[in-house]
Amino acid sequence: MEKLVRQMLVKMGENPEREGLVKTPERVARSWKEITGGAQQDPGEMVRGALFQAEGQEMVIVNDIDFYSVCEHHLLPFFGKAHVAYIPNGKIVGLSKIARVVEAYARRLQVQERMTAQVANCLMENLNPLGVAVTLHAQHLCMMMRGIQKQNSYAVTSEMLGCFKNDPKTRAEFLTLIREKPWS
Ligand SMILES: [Zn+2]
Repeated sequence: MEKLVRQMLVKMGENPEREGLVKTPERVARSWKEITGGAQQDPGEMVRGALFQAEGQEMVIVNDIDFYSVCEHHLLPFFGKAHVAYIPNGKIVGLSKIARVVEAYARRLQVQERMTAQVANCLMENLNPLGVAVTLHAQHLCMMMRGIQKQNSYAVTSEMLGCFKNDPKTRAEFLTLIREKPWS
């Protein structure tokens, strides 16, 4: 990758030997390894490794999980907040694992719609709850820095599975809870 980044700098009309750029190929290669490192992780295993028995069937919700991903169409970042909810069916998962699952799917070349569905399906398959809801709010640098330069627009994607899909009351409760900001 370092060789390719060097070539890219030349194509941009830059001199890759100048002081600020000499180590850039190395830095870029290292940061892309981290940014796309989620592809080597197994989010399903993260969930299966942190399951606990639980009786309740009340909604569990983790709001405002920060994530950073990369749009596969432009190789530019998109980033924002994920809101994830599920209704247990005998098992719960450690809350921090939900954020880890979001991160694992964010750290790869993505489109927001697919990432939303992947997080939801991963929880549905490995936690086996009554339902899962995932909503992502994200700003895309490919929209903000180039083209039409829509500075303040953001994209919202949702995936509703199980009872969130079938029961309008459950879905409405989720949508209300992700709007609440208890600390503000
Ligand atoms: Zn894009």
